[in-house]
Amino acid sequence: QPEDPRVAKIPRYVRVNSLLWTAEEATQSFISRGFTPTSPEAITGQGFVKDHHVPDLFLFAPQTQFHESAAYKAGKLILQDKASCFPAIVLSPPVSENGAVIDATAAPGNKTSHLSALMRNTGKLFAFERDQKRFSTLQYMLKKAGCRNVETINTDFLNVSPEDEKYAAVTHILLDPSCSGSGIVNRLDYLLEPENDNDSVDTERLNKLASFQLSMIKHAMKFPGVVKIVYSTCSIHAAENERVVCQALKSEEAQAAHYTLAPKEIVLPDWPRRGIPEEMDNFEQAPSVIRCRPGDDATNGFFVACFIKTSQQDVQVT
Ligand code: SAM
Repeated sequence: QPEDPRVAKIPRYVRVNSLLWTAEEATQSFISRGFTPTSPEAITGQGFVKDHHVPDLFLFAPQTQFHESAAYKAGKLILQDKASCFPAIVLSPPVSENGAVIDATAAPGNKTSHLSALMRNTGKLFAFERDQKRFSTLQYMLKKAGCRNVETINTDFLNVSPEDEKYAAVTHILLDPSCSGSGIVNRLDYLLEPENDNDSVDTERLNKLASFQLSMIKHAMKFPGVVKIVYSTCSIHAAENERVVCQALKSEEAQAAHYTLAPKEIVLPDWPRRGIPEEMDNFEQAPSVIRCRPGDDATNGFFVACFIKTSQQDVQVT
């Protein structure tokens, strides 16, 4: 099967796991392995460059291999597409001993380890995963990445009671639920037990996924202490993206808890591609959400939205 031409437009992204390594140490290591700092326009051969949206993320030529490198095997490097780093950045979890965060759909754990790194291993990160096999992968990945503030829980997020005292301190939720995977053109990052086969996306399947995704957002909105929820998919379909977000905003749960879309200013304002206005209830909502177009944006296809409690809009939401 010939390779999708969009794959060649996507660099090999490597996130330095700041729990175990620094960007400076990584840079020195890359150079000692024969790589050369270059410019974003010219990443070929042995060139590499630091990303300008995601801290600690580096770009290499698309075919560069890291699976066999000692740093990857030691958990110091995480192979993660740029777009899939956006949710944790937008969530901007608290860095505090009292901080509490939920990753509702965690395996294989790239976003969980990213959150843990942003939290600098402080506070508490509850990571839920309902699939047993994927849960084992999650545990392995988090151990390898040196994440010590994570409690992994093998359960269905929809069965977790928002009233449970255990989660009373939770203020931030990351929600990256199962989706059609229709944005994935470069499977390099998804070799690890890909969840979906994006070759067969029909309307019935999309509708089922959308209703599941909506139920997950509504459930997240019921946690009383939560002020910020980031929803993401690796789908290009508005049915799983803008339309789910608009339905969530109109839900009883959103009304009861006063959720609204976060303003563009706190949702990666420098990223140029935003939501599709025609797919939202109100054209003005489109800049609040992020889209990535597979290949064209040098990433896989991706979508990110951020809900915040209205009362939080006046204060700096971090
Ligand atoms: N965030 C992950 C990462 O970056 O590595 C990828 C998450 S993947 C898109 C979605 C995951 O959610 C799958 O592992 C799936 O088994 C899990 N999942 C789906 N529904 C769930 C539910 N109701 N509760 C908990 N986990 C769920």
